[in-house]
Amino acid sequence: MASVSPCLLRWSSSSSSVASATSSSSSSCSLRTYASRRIRRLFLLRSGNRNELPRALSVKAEAEVLKEDIVIVGAGIAGLATSLSLHRLGVKSLVLEQAESLRTGGTSLTLFKNGWRVLDAIGVGSELRTQFLEIQGMVVKSEDGRELRSFRFKDEDDSQEVRAVERSILLGTFADQLPPEAIRFSSKLAKIGRSENGETLLELVDGTRLSAKIVIGCDGVRSPVAKWLGFSEPKYVGYCAFRGLGFYPDGQPCEPRVTYTYGRGLRAGYVPISPTKVYWFVCFNSPSPGPKITDPSILKNQSRELVRNWPSELLNIIDRTPRDTIIRTPLVDRWLWPMVSPSASSGSVVLVGDAWHPMTPNLGQGACCALEDAVVLSRKLANAINSGNGSVESALKSYESERWPRIFPLTVRANLVGSLLQWENPVVCSVRNNVVIPKLVRIGPMLEHTNFACERL
Ligand SMILES: Cc1cc2nc3c(=O)[nH]c(=O)nc-3n(C[C@H](O)[C@H](O)[C@H](O)COP(=O)(O)OP(=O)(O)OC[C@H]3O[C@@H](n4cnc5c(N)ncnc54)[C@H](O)[C@@H]3O)c2cc1C
Repeated sequence: MASVSPCLLRWSSSSSSVASATSSSSSSCSLRTYASRRIRRLFLLRSGNRNELPRALSVKAEAEVLKEDIVIVGAGIAGLATSLSLHRLGVKSLVLEQAESLRTGGTSLTLFKNGWRVLDAIGVGSELRTQFLEIQGMVVKSEDGRELRSFRFKDEDDSQEVRAVERSILLGTFADQLPPEAIRFSSKLAKIGRSENGETLLELVDGTRLSAKIVIGCDGVRSPVAKWLGFSEPKYVGYCAFRGLGFYPDGQPCEPRVTYTYGRGLRAGYVPISPTKVYWFVCFNSPSPGPKITDPSILKNQSRELVRNWPSELLNIIDRTPRDTIIRTPLVDRWLWPMVSPSASSGSVVLVGDAWHPMTPNLGQGACCALEDAVVLSRKLANAINSGNGSVESALKSYESERWPRIFPLTVRANLVGSLLQWENPVVCSVRNNVVIPKLVRIGPMLEHTNFACERL
């Protein structure tokens, strides 16, 4: 694809335009102003804020296509971090999110120092730090409660920073820094295709059609954009996770460390995230992902049942968990084999985060890597757009070349660590608990992957 005209992509209130599918993209100023107003109206209608706007305005002519410069599909961590990074660099984008609002559920994510470097680079690190406890270390136990090993993160690496953040607060913090019209909710991507002029056509479930110069697929593990680029479905790895957030209105009792318990084909852990909340998880082997269960009381009972004979502290945290915060997720990943896997970009369409590289959570790196992707891609894209230095297409290829050597080995490693921790064989588990963990494991090398340099945007 030829490089995108810088004047169309720089941050400006008049950069959006609406045109029929056949009209030229070089819109007049008045048309652009009209377009901005029109997009805002559609946004207000979709987001439920109808502010005296007549309902009839939401009925669109069949041929109408909204013209956008950069469309990001998905308002998860990858999508919002990318939009905010671009915004900091003076580049406007529109985020399409299928849900009616930002995800309010979800539990928490442990972010290591690489994640915090990115949050600082984007300018939201300090605000988040005040809300979440710094985790000092980790203790590993066997299922009978015996302590196998404990580590302090800073003993090996003084620059290490570990905090678990609530997903909904992380998303809300990103969104608060974006212009109000930057995210369009209730906008589920249904179809994607290439238009004759080389732009990408996006059709939403409600029939809205958009034409975008650049599309960034941040639509998670089941990404329709990745599917369109030729990626296979992620592979189920043989175990599932229950997660929840224990709530202690009068103050939680835990030390600021991660407590893991390793059993046979079963492991669990918990970590305090704030003065009143404790995140917990239980990972269990299951030959198939099983049916989707949404009834919160069933989820709670199932997770309790798995660890009912384990030390009671975890059961107490599960009992303190509001039922609607418990989720069960079959774990998946996708290995990006060289020469075999499709490219992360094609023309001016590119993938970020789980849409490109779903990985198991065993290293706590999925979201951290999505954050890294966001800043790396945004810098390269903004450089191509703002300075006219090279084409957008080569910026996207350069992003892929820089990121692939980072994320492919991490995906593989996370998978192998998970297999080791989910072993069921009693002899192997005994060797793991009595030899490998107490005598062989070193935390420093285990966390070397969290080194990531990142300047402020
Ligand atoms: C059990 C578990 C524990 C984890 N723990 C950690 C951890 O401790 N640390 C860590 O760094 N990572 C962790 N992760 C990984 C982390 O959750 C993901 O890597 C991260 O959420 C990826 O963000 P994303 O934005 O790429 O995808 P998502 O968070 O999945 O966001 C995708 C967004 O796209 C939207 N979307 C999807 N399809 C469409 C469509 N058709 N149209 C419009 N919008 C669409 C979705 O609604 C969603 O908002 C964990 C994952 C699991 C499963």
